[in-house]
Amino acid sequence: MVKRWRCTVCGYIHEGTEPPAVCPACGADCSRFEVVREDEPAFRGPGPSVADHLHPILAHFPNGLMPTTIFLLAVSWLFSRPALEEAVVWMVGLVTCVVPLNLLTGIRDWRRYHGGIKASIFRKKIALGIALGLMGVVALALRLLGGYGLRPLYLTLLFGMLAASVALGYLGGQLMFVAIDKSDPH
Ligand SMILES: [Zn+2]
Repeated sequence: MVKRWRCTVCGYIHEGTEPPAVCPACGADCSRFEVVREDEPAFRGPGPSVADHLHPILAHFPNGLMPTTIFLLAVSWLFSRPALEEAVVWMVGLVTCVVPLNLLTGIRDWRRYHGGIKASIFRKKIALGIALGLMGVVALALRLLGGYGLRPLYLTLLFGMLAASVALGYLGGQLMFVAIDKSDPH
């Protein structure tokens, strides 16, 4: 008989006679799946207070700033505007300062809404967050101690930070939209 199975880690819903071997959304194994009962109450997620949403709010800082840094570096190089290159340093500094707050609020939400279970999606998010912060520290050190910013290693680190923030946003979106599906009463 076909049942609805829910991943207890991320809320992904699977329909079938058996749960999937591995959750396609978060990577948890089949032991983390439970049968969805028809009479159970709707999912209780974050409340309306801003404090409950600090992680997604802070996560938009790197997501918004990193593409802007690349854009401003390109403009500064094409139109010889050194002030824009300097603005990029401040933006990379801001991203690097926000990363520890992102990690703390992310770990808080992981424990609160996903039971702190060590599924692959959370391991990836934490590793990418640490990588983002470390790349920021090294990029800032290179730029501030090594002089002018348009050097290959510095640029590589900025592109690495852009890639890490895009990947973090993608994984966060997976968890978000699964959570919305979880609240669907049907
Ligand atoms: Zn899952």
